[in-house]
Amino acid sequence: MGPGRTYLDHNASSPLRPAAKTAILAAADLDGNPTSIHAEGRACRRCLERGRQVVASAVGAEPDGVIFTSGATEANDLACNQTRGTMLASAVEHPSVLEARGCERLPVDPSGRLDLAALERRLRSGDVDLVALMAANNETGVVQPVAEAARLARRHGAVLHVDAVQVLGRMPLSLAALGADTIALSAHKIGGPKGVGALVHASGVAVRARLRGGGQEHRLRAGTENLIGIASFAAAIEAIAADEAPRIDALRRRLEAAVDVGIVVGGGAARLCSTVALALPGMDAASQVMALDLDGIAVSAGAACSSGKVERSHVLSAMGLPDEIVRSTIRVSLGWNTTEADVDRFVAAWLRLRRRVRSAGRAVSV
Ligand code: PMP
Repeated sequence: MGPGRTYLDHNASSPLRPAAKTAILAAADLDGNPTSIHAEGRACRRCLERGRQVVASAVGAEPDGVIFTSGATEANDLACNQTRGTMLASAVEHPSVLEARGCERLPVDPSGRLDLAALERRLRSGDVDLVALMAANNETGVVQPVAEAARLARRHGAVLHVDAVQVLGRMPLSLAALGADTIALSAHKIGGPKGVGALVHASGVAVRARLRGGGQEHRLRAGTENLIGIASFAAAIEAIAADEAPRIDALRRRLEAAVDVGIVVGGGAARLCSTVALALPGMDAASQVMALDLDGIAVSAGAACSSGKVERSHVLSAMGLPDEIVRSTIRVSLGWNTTEADVDRFVAAWLRLRRRVRSAGRAVSV
């Protein structure tokens, strides 16, 4: 983060934690390949297996259940392509799930939670063998009824994949408590490096490889592992303080109290401590992001998007929100290094924007 900046875009990518940076430097000194049997190779292997243990214990899984990948996009792709029957996904999933292969989208209610009755109706038809439901949404922070969906899926013979990217470190996360068959994780959302993640599967769940070649990752993902990334991912997990989530939650409440909760999208539902989707009718989200950026504050317009252009959010649209809200919602996401001063600076800048919109007489009531 540059000097004088306030970074509130942790859901897009959280700044690298100091311990994660130290781990990168340490792992960079490891010569060799984890598959080699000489001393250098064995040192790499120890580092790799240590990382595997840390990731496994963070989600209550067995180390053998961790498959390291290039990130959550690859983990979602691997999980969603495990079956060949019909796949169902909530309409608010990340594009890496929705576009992993053809799937049917399930509706969400106005607060953004999956419609469990619709899931059950669709499961009864018998042809569904995979359900994908994220643990919490990256744009709104709305927490999904994963355990209930898992019970329904199991009853009807389908497996459940959970994209848990935004939940790691922000809420207790356990493969068993979720009832998930597989979960996807990403290092850079928790202050680890970009370009590394994992698919974690419950014991007894068979996984078929997508990438074949070398025998890495128990033959489930060929390719020499990103050892530096994995070591740093593990260090980031270990650096998550026990009081981090409650501390971030207090900051989120401070922010919401200052701006008026009425304009927080998904405000009525259980949400992550990290995420506030904030509507300012009368000013489109991209203009807000640019104005705040000029004020030294980084936030995002709904989902960060790779093309650089802001597209209409499929998440907010699926919630059935009025067009004006969909177009004018920004995402403010807090993380491990967010301070009260960051929140207060954002609030002051945002209130100035709102005054501008109101004095221009463009405001639409929410
Ligand atoms: N799922 C969710 C919910 C996300 O927020 C993201 C990152 N935007 C991804 C998957 C993709 O993760 P990665 O960048 O590691 O591929």
